[in-house]
Amino acid sequence: MTETVSAPTAPLRARAEIDLAALRANVRTLRALAPGAQLMAVVKSEAYGHGAVRCARAAVEAGAGWLGTATPEEALALRRAGLPGRIMCWLWTPGGPWREAVEADIDVSVSGMWALAEVTAAARAAGIPARVQLKADTGLGRNGCQPGRDWEELVAGALRAEAEGVLRITGLWSHFACADEPGHPSIAAQLALFRDMVGYAEEQGVRPEVRHIANSPATLTVPDSHFDLVRTGIALYGISPSPELGTPADFGLRPVMTLSANLALVKHVPGGHGVSYGHHYVTPGRTTLGLVPLGYADGIPRHASGNGPVLVGGKWRTVAGRIAMDQFVVDLGGDEPPVGAEAVLFGPGDRGEPTAEDWAQAAGTIAYEIVTRIGTRVPRVYVNEEQDG
Ligand SMILES: *Cc1c(COP(=O)(O)O)cnc(C)c1O
Repeated sequence: MTETVSAPTAPLRARAEIDLAALRANVRTLRALAPGAQLMAVVKSEAYGHGAVRCARAAVEAGAGWLGTATPEEALALRRAGLPGRIMCWLWTPGGPWREAVEADIDVSVSGMWALAEVTAAARAAGIPARVQLKADTGLGRNGCQPGRDWEELVAGALRAEAEGVLRITGLWSHFACADEPGHPSIAAQLALFRDMVGYAEEQGVRPEVRHIANSPATLTVPDSHFDLVRTGIALYGISPSPELGTPADFGLRPVMTLSANLALVKHVPGGHGVSYGHHYVTPGRTTLGLVPLGYADGIPRHASGNGPVLVGGKWRTVAGRIAMDQFVVDLGGDEPPVGAEAVLFGPGDRGEPTAEDWAQAAGTIAYEIVTRIGTRVPRVYVNEEQDG
């Protein structure tokens, strides 16, 4: 489990500072963007690396009516931590903890007949009706029930179980493939098919509490997709789903995580000195090197070797040579910051530091992956925990 620190007493090697006031403000901003819908805070994978329980609590305080996770284990952990209200999870495999989920009043997603059979059996055994949301594959081609005969069979099966009192169909839902590419023809096609599949289920007698398809990019750019509930993940953490859509500031969002470390060594080296494994960087002349005590074990992408940006002493420096498991080096160009000086890898950007998006570009990936991969060896330090007036 990720170590969490509220008020660090000893100096830390490195830390991911999590600004809960920014997270709460992002929840309010997103709710204002989708005023007719409830908001689900998606806190899967430790809230994209930010810490699930703290972020879930802050999101609920700021008005999130639902929490969403991928796995049932994640959902059950939130309930055990005392989180109230609606919690939904959607990634099930055979033999999953259906009964525990039913007993914990968690909404479970069902994409096929095997899952309907397992949840029905678990609800019978528990003597409590399950809260089941039927997932339609409207074009993502991943999880979800195919339209046509598969959907008709799933809807009929769920309605039979509902009539027996074994479950309640609480939701009808789907997920977009290309919502981060505005105008992509699949967006309108998925919306149209979603309306058809919801319409069919409702004609058959399904009365869902919520119908939902919007993730962060759709919440930000496709108002038609908001229905009763929007499921926001990355935007909660103040990161734009894609630089093509805009910056976080364009949407009134503020990045929540700042990742920094303290230089473990500063030293003079001559020109022609190889740096780090493989000597892929060779000092162009006499210079100073700073040792940053973070590596790929901490989730710093090795693909950003020679490329990743770091703010040291008010200047952007670049990773010199390879990122190793626990450490990497920056060329300080002759500057002599004291050992222990702060090196900021990414943050909101307003102190001149790089952003998670900058690291995504340096590593050839998306900012989602940059924050989510930050490892458990990096303590999370929570700031602004107190609710603002
Ligand atoms: C992760 C996830 C989301 C949130 O996606 P973002 O793009 O981070 O907002 C929503 N729905 C489902 C099914 C997901 O898996």
